[in-house]
Amino acid sequence: MRECFEVRDTDGAGRIGELSVPRAGVTVETPALMPVINPHLRTVDPAALESDFGAEILITNGYILYKSEAFRERALEEGLAELYDFSGAIVTDSGSFQLSEYGEISVTNAEILAFQRDIGADVGTPIDVPTPPDAGRERAEADLETTKSRIEAAESVDVGGMLLNAPIQGSTYPDLRESAAAHAYGTDLDVFPVGAVVPLMNGYRYAEMIEVVRAAKRGLGADAPVHLFGAGHPMMFALAAAAGCDLFDSAAYALYARDGRYLTVSGTDHLDDLEYFPCSCPVCAEHTPAELRSVSETQRETLLARHNLHVSYRELRTVKQAIREGSLFELLERRARSHPAMVDGYRELLDDAAALERSDPVSKATFFHLSADSARRPEVERHHDRLGRLSVDGDRVLVSAGGDNSRFDETWRLREPFGPVPPALSDTYPLTAERPERLGRAGYEAAAEGVARLAAANPDTEFAVAHWGWPDSALDRLPEAVETLPLGPESDHPEDG
Ligand SMILES: [Zn+2]
Repeated sequence: MRECFEVRDTDGAGRIGELSVPRAGVTVETPALMPVINPHLRTVDPAALESDFGAEILITNGYILYKSEAFRERALEEGLAELYDFSGAIVTDSGSFQLSEYGEISVTNAEILAFQRDIGADVGTPIDVPTPPDAGRERAEADLETTKSRIEAAESVDVGGMLLNAPIQGSTYPDLRESAAAHAYGTDLDVFPVGAVVPLMNGYRYAEMIEVVRAAKRGLGADAPVHLFGAGHPMMFALAAAAGCDLFDSAAYALYARDGRYLTVSGTDHLDDLEYFPCSCPVCAEHTPAELRSVSETQRETLLARHNLHVSYRELRTVKQAIREGSLFELLERRARSHPAMVDGYRELLDDAAALERSDPVSKATFFHLSADSARRPEVERHHDRLGRLSVDGDRVLVSAGGDNSRFDETWRLREPFGPVPPALSDTYPLTAERPERLGRAGYEAAAEGVARLAAANPDTEFAVAHWGWPDSALDRLPEAVETLPLGPESDHPEDG
């Protein structure tokens, strides 16, 4: 067990956790947002982040402080908490970003770790090597070896109670990400940032981002807090949290504001294009877009940044509430509809329903079947797995969407997208799912797969399926030995009951 992190609630791979940060003397509830503070450009003061937005944690760049004539000595003398007037946890980055941008930096791994310790950082970072997406395999491997050696070196540095990040690199190679994560998890470092994914997010390559996160998660234990490095747009918080990310950092709130851009949970708008604000935060309640366009540039930037923070924190609370009540997948279905690339990200996540299923609670809020993707949720996978292990009593079993029939020894209910429902389980989650009357084909097909699993587990039993107008694509998925009895006015259907 990693002592600094405890998982309290789960929904799929999403979780609410507690990150204990001993140096700051605080416990941060996750998923948490860490606003990025640029010491030279404080768009919103850290004290205001704490008082107005409830920020418990922020992140700043240790390398910029190290290089800054204005702040270096002050940071060493006063410590970060006083320099920033912030009582929560302060995470520092090491200059890896500058390294990837400019090719070199003028500090060693040991020096920057000691500097982070000496300025009172609560979570510090060794200098990893961020390898961008699509890099050649040889380069990704070589960079990763350097990152691994920096992480190992960090283990032996006296960090005086500071927690340490163990960044996970490996570009877009899932096997490298997984082995990097396993290596990092094997050290005694504490927090696990998945690095160099910003180009994927900026390019709307959400499916690949999820693939990278899933690979990293395979190498980590469930007790590892995961930071999705550079993820600051609220539109992808639900998706990233559902993949098991616990920490996000946002420079977006300030960078986008500088550009006149307005964040929402479904994308980005430009202030120039808005006639109405689709938000009720204090900024949007007190101003119209026209008013915001007419104030000074500095004031506009601050107000937009404050709106961007409000919408980000509100989305995090929405995500946490969804995890708590077990409706994260329903939230994700809504968020995924905001952009085709988000649909891809969601589908990539569902591709590994087994991994989601491991931490998914057995019972939660009513399952809402909302789209073809709902038929691929982990709850459906879990029910199918159960059907594959169930043995039935009778020689002849009817799986019926209508009534019982005395020709059969036993009648089970047929419920899409799950398939056969044993009589004893018909009132239990998730089999009580709410479904639209006009169910799509995927729901029927998933139910047919459930029948096939049950039939395969009971080869000596004869099965029949009584269904209301299943499409051919679902009927084709039934084993040949399964009899089909269409229900309806002209059918030779089982007795009603
Ligand atoms: Zn607003």
